[in-house]
Amino acid sequence: MEAASGMSSEGRPIQCKAAVCRRAGEPLVIENVMVAPPMSREARIRITCTSLCHSDITFWRMKDPPGICPRILGHEAVGVVESVGEEVREVEKGDVVVPVFLPECGECEDCRSTKSNLCSTVRFRVSPWMARHESTRFTDMKGNPIYHFLFVSSFSQYTVVDVANLAKIHPSLPPNRACLLSCGVSTGVGAAWVTAAVEAGSTVAIFGLGSIGLAVAEGARLCGAGRIIGVDLNPDKFEIGKKFGVTHFVNSGECGDKPVSQVIKEMTGGGADYCFECVGMASLVHEAYASCRKGWGKTIVVGVDKPGSKLSLSSAEVLHSGKVLTGSLFGGLKPKTHIPILAKRYLDKELQLDDFVTHEIDFEDINRAFDLLLEGQCLRCVIWMNK
Ligand code: NAD
Ligand code: ZN
Ligand code: ZN
Repeated sequence: MEAASGMSSEGRPIQCKAAVCRRAGEPLVIENVMVAPPMSREARIRITCTSLCHSDITFWRMKDPPGICPRILGHEAVGVVESVGEEVREVEKGDVVVPVFLPECGECEDCRSTKSNLCSTVRFRVSPWMARHESTRFTDMKGNPIYHFLFVSSFSQYTVVDVANLAKIHPSLPPNRACLLSCGVSTGVGAAWVTAAVEAGSTVAIFGLGSIGLAVAEGARLCGAGRIIGVDLNPDKFEIGKKFGVTHFVNSGECGDKPVSQVIKEMTGGGADYCFECVGMASLVHEAYASCRKGWGKTIVVGVDKPGSKLSLSSAEVLHSGKVLTGSLFGGLKPKTHIPILAKRYLDKELQLDDFVTHEIDFEDINRAFDLLLEGQCLRCVIWMNK
């Protein structure tokens, strides 16, 4: 590793430990890997903390493309810049950075617009490669390539990330909180704050109370929402939800013959102002759309469903209801612009991050994080890479 030799590692490959997904759905294998130096517009980062998001589980399970093996998963993290490639001006060695799957070049028409966070220079896609160069920076000890995940691949002590995917943060933010801003909490808070622009006094319904759904609640609470209805199959999520501003709970497994949307319409006198799908199931998007109020109701799709899954709405339904249906990648946030704002709101004790961290483990126990998230008691499990 970098420090062991006492020499600078700049410009040379680094050997370190990574948790590699060798076969879909099987425990990750901790092995030595080589991490090549960054190419132009890239930085190599020493990961301090990473945490597990449900999207890692979705792609870990996936046998067919865009699932691919061997791959280094992980996309919610914080780290320190070890070295930078050519033409990198945004960050330098020693900077604390949050890598984000969604790029922000800052210069294209979309990055300059306040209406979008979908950069056109470096496009978001689920690719096995780096964001700008169609190649990998990881090889195993036999010299075979290992693929990237969501431009981050943080289940490795070192990784290489494009500068468009890096947000610099103040080093005073504790790493076991900062990593949450890299995906889950930012996504949820942003979905309420930016994508939906929830108004004070409005009624919000959230389908799925994992970290993403609860972060939507947190964002809606900060926007002054009047009622926040949480929908989940796991009744334990209601007590947990109260901490994040959830005021009412619907156990969707106990609604009998009534669709959840009918229950929500009855509770809200015609439908919620904003509905968020935070599970990743097309059928729940339909429920969320049906749960929001005609005329002005807005449904925000945040969950990631299986590749190829489709929605089906009748055109008359769309025409007559006047509702809005939209997707929200990374909560509509621009990583470089909005992550420092969320970090400040945490330091100012407005935004809560602490309660999202239910577990902290060492890197060698990384497979336990998968069990914990799947068991339903865990919100975020923070993994310390070098403790
Ligand atoms: P999680 O596993 O922590 O939480 C999911 C929750 O949904 C759990 O509480 C579970 O009990 C509940 N649930 C499952 N099936 C349900 C059903 N049929 N009805 C109601 N509730 C149900 O997951 P997470 O980390 O919070 O992620 C949630 C979703 O958000 C995933 O699909 C993930 O891929 C996606 N995501 C999207 C973005 C984005 O940018 N849009 C970013 C991060 C995560
Ligand atoms: Zn994520
Ligand atoms: Zn751009």
